[in-house]
Amino acid sequence: MSEYATAATTLNKDDLIVVTGAGGFIAGALTRHFHDQGFTRIRAVDKKPLPEWYQRVPGVESLTMDLSDPDNCTRAAEGAVEVYNLAADMGGMGFIERFRIECLRSVLINTHMVEAAYRAGAARYFFSSSACAYNTQLQQKPEVLALKESDAYPAMAERGYGWEKLISEMFCEEYWAERRFKTFIARFHNVYGPYGTWDGGREKAPAALSRKVIEAQESGNLEIDIWGDGTQTRSFMYIDDCVKGIDLIMHCDDLIATPINLGSSHLISINGLVSTIEEIAGVELARRYNLDAPQGVAGRNSDNTFILEVLGWEPDTPLRVGMEKTYAWIQSQYDDRRAGIYTPAGS
Ligand code: NAD
Repeated sequence: MSEYATAATTLNKDDLIVVTGAGGFIAGALTRHFHDQGFTRIRAVDKKPLPEWYQRVPGVESLTMDLSDPDNCTRAAEGAVEVYNLAADMGGMGFIERFRIECLRSVLINTHMVEAAYRAGAARYFFSSSACAYNTQLQQKPEVLALKESDAYPAMAERGYGWEKLISEMFCEEYWAERRFKTFIARFHNVYGPYGTWDGGREKAPAALSRKVIEAQESGNLEIDIWGDGTQTRSFMYIDDCVKGIDLIMHCDDLIATPINLGSSHLISINGLVSTIEEIAGVELARRYNLDAPQGVAGRNSDNTFILEVLGWEPDTPLRVGMEKTYAWIQSQYDDRRAGIYTPAGS
């Protein structure tokens, strides 16, 4: 057994765990994780109607509620021992560059949810922040230095989405400083995997590029449209690593109210990601670069010195392994949809 605490080593199996944003990608996987660990009282909340959730986990109380409303947050947090707040209006670069107001409005969810969890007497509260909270001026070159936690300040976060994350982090920090409420903050760096958005405008690069490769093969038009010149660099974390990291971070008292990177430190260019997907699909496509499309910062990587120091671990699923599973899942969704079977794509 790991020497590090997790929900399984900290909670009773009938303690109530609340997961918000659970109709979405990461919180859906987190809900399944707790279910698989044997927790018997899990409340999953999302504003989407239930048929649109990526994962419906059996035995889980699944509620459709808009958590920008404080009364709904009170209802969601009632009786909770732990609250994992992952609800946010978000998407890939195509969404967050275009809908900054929607992104900023997620501040309502976090503001009301942390207060509701505190009032409910929860023991711990988790907030999903983002690498977009980092100072964008440090990310102007593809050969970027990895971002360490202190690089969020002086603040120059990504407009809209990044600033919302930064202010919500601050709420979490002050709830601990003033009220001794144990809050935990992870800054996720690009998460990918099955059961996430793969079409409709909110999808992120790994899912979008997988879908485009599938579409090219299906149509016989062996070309792919790439946003930007393909030299932008990122790191990509597989969903299983993200879920494991959330569980470890939430139960590490050295990390109370302390933002920490949760991401892979393996840097790859978008061109490199396309090549990986092409290898998996067994195809080579002509690349068309769309220089007018949203592409975000030039380069961004996760400095994992801190997580290695406190948890002795970093996300380590190889990109090829994670992308094989992701590609296979998107192919299955694509096939289902073509066969007339309803698939929640995330639009
Ligand atoms: P997602 O869009 O799949 O899930 C978010 C869910 O929140 C959606 O199902 C949405 O319906 C729900 N939601 C939005 N507004 C709501 C509201 N008012 N009330 C209730 N539910 C609401 O996104 P995800 O990729 O699973 O992201 C989860 C969290 O992780 C978010 O906070 C996101 O900002 C953060 N994050 C994700 C990534 C990534 O690469 N996926 C990177 C950095 C941070």
